[in-house]
Amino acid sequence: MSESKQYNIQCPSCGMQQDVELYDAVNVSTDPELKQALLENRLNRVGCIDCDATFRVDMPLLYTDPENDIMIHWISEMEHLTQEQIIEDFDQSLEQVNEMLPADIKTPTVRLVLTRVELVELIFMIEKGMNQRVVEYVKYSIFTRNAEKTDPHKFRLLLNVQDSTDEELCFVLQDVGSQELGAGLRYGRAAYDSMCELYDETPEEFFEMFPGPCISARNLLLEDSEEK
Ligand SMILES: [Zn+2]
Repeated sequence: MSESKQYNIQCPSCGMQQDVELYDAVNVSTDPELKQALLENRLNRVGCIDCDATFRVDMPLLYTDPENDIMIHWISEMEHLTQEQIIEDFDQSLEQVNEMLPADIKTPTVRLVLTRVELVELIFMIEKGMNQRVVEYVKYSIFTRNAEKTDPHKFRLLLNVQDSTDEELCFVLQDVGSQELGAGLRYGRAAYDSMCELYDETPEEFFEMFPGPCISARNLLLEDSEEK
């Protein structure tokens, strides 16, 4: 089931307040049109009743895809809530949930993303049956091999599933500050496929690198650079 509630929201451009209906949870099986709205950047978008500005309200959203047995939480970084805090809090509550559940219950896969673009990227990956840990491993190697052009402090690296072909995976750099999309990077599909074979043989190495629920090469690199 998808869920929505009334919220009192202030327009960021004129300050006008209004009550709006916003979604906290989207179930893609029961409400595929909400997924479409999310992909088209229309979900939780509000039009100001006073100044005609439109803006998106990024409240925590739970995206559930029962068919693929996955739940994705999208929690945006805010002034009073840093990325590290979000991940830490989320890890803790996930542990508590897992402790409460009987051991024989199969829980769905839970993921955490911090931006809408990462949520959209993950939805496409899931629907194409791509291995998220392997994709992030590929990103990790692109980041480290092109260190001067792809500084993880400045750029996010996104997989463009739709433009990828049987021969190549297409990645695109996104400027973290301006959110603008920049240069594209290509990666041979054959190399990805052989990485998937490696994953099937020794998944534990990939799990060690990306334990989840936030699976992100960029976050891993940022953590590493802070430790140095
Ligand atoms: Zn306004």
